Amino acid sequence: MNKATEKPPILWLQTLVFSITLLIALIAVPWYAFTHGYSLAVVICALLFWISNGISITAGYHRLWSHHTYKAHPLLQILLALFGAAATQNSILVWASGHRRHHRHVDDNERDPYSAKKGFWFSHIGWMLRHYDSGKDNFDNAKDLQHDKIVMWQHRHYLAITLAMNFIPPLLVGIATGDIIGSLLLVGVLRLVISHHTTFLINSLAHIWGKRPYTESNTARDNGFIALLTYGEGYHNYHHLFQYDYRNGVRWWQFDPTKWLIKSASWVGLTKDLKRAPSFKILKAMLDMKFKKAQEKLASTSETEEYSQLEWSKILEQEYQQFSNILNEWNQLRQKWYEQKRDKLNEATHALQEKWHSTALHTRFKELKYALKMQTRRLDLLTQQFATA
Ligand SMILES: [Zn+2]
Ligand SMILES: [Zn+2]
Repeated sequence: MNKATEKPPILWLQTLVFSITLLIALIAVPWYAFTHGYSLAVVICALLFWISNGISITAGYHRLWSHHTYKAHPLLQILLALFGAAATQNSILVWASGHRRHHRHVDDNERDPYSAKKGFWFSHIGWMLRHYDSGKDNFDNAKDLQHDKIVMWQHRHYLAITLAMNFIPPLLVGIATGDIIGSLLLVGVLRLVISHHTTFLINSLAHIWGKRPYTESNTARDNGFIALLTYGEGYHNYHHLFQYDYRNGVRWWQFDPTKWLIKSASWVGLTKDLKRAPSFKILKAMLDMKFKKAQEKLASTSETEEYSQLEWSKILEQEYQQFSNILNEWNQLRQKWYEQKRDKLNEATHALQEKWHSTALHTRFKELKYALKMQTRRLDLLTQQFATA
């Protein structure tokens, strides 16, 4: 066989785990439902265990250890490490270092371990079934995690922890409800299969289906439906641009239970130092994309009765000029803000005067942010106009 077309060897352990659990979920789980039925208690326990697994991957493996978007109390870290292991997606160290490579080399077929450019199957599960070069472990980008006691404890005992977390809770539920087989099937297997494939959707479907409101520099998409299944991780376009932000669904109405969990845990001291991208930066990214899309739309629109294409493009140009002016002023203000902070350290300025300056700067910052918000609305109206023209 030609070396170039030869496929890398199959990783049998992963392949068998994925196939056997899937077969049980497809055949034995419904068979048991028809012949014996499941009690409500078992169904609820399966649901709770599924949620705890999924959210440990999103809040723990992803937003805490891969991206350090916040800090967590050791007690919470242990829970996230245990229930994350139950999700059976490898250790935190392996997962996070692979995920960091995904961000750094996104869409690069040679270096992104689950490059979406290699198709749905590969980015969903195919990348884990064979010994691809792009999927080889390399912890050079995870030195911080190699010094983390909890991460390394979980890494060293990964197999034992994963087996214990996959068998003990279903067995306990089985003993408590008097239905061990039912619990092993639902809390054990079905929970694992659904947990696997919903998480895998973030690498596959969230790079294929959805909108790109913040950046078109990669394939990542924002998709509210995927967010419903993945505890908020469906807002993947935002996440790829602002990976240090603890939120993925950045708007208040977006479904992001991982964000809500991290935020509410901060009220009881379990999390702290939650990082957020500045709202001005987010608005700027959105407006950049809106200008790009408006220009594309205008270019593909035929002339209207009242306004010619030329006149519309003049308006668009004016808007863009205004946008650039706002950004310039914003940068100058930031410069002033930092200078003022530095001066404060160097010399004791008059307190009242200092307060006046900060308030004045603050007011101007707010005004500029408002101006950008209004511009977003105007651009939406303009784009609608091109669409109906
Ligand atoms: Zn991604
Ligand atoms: Zn990420």
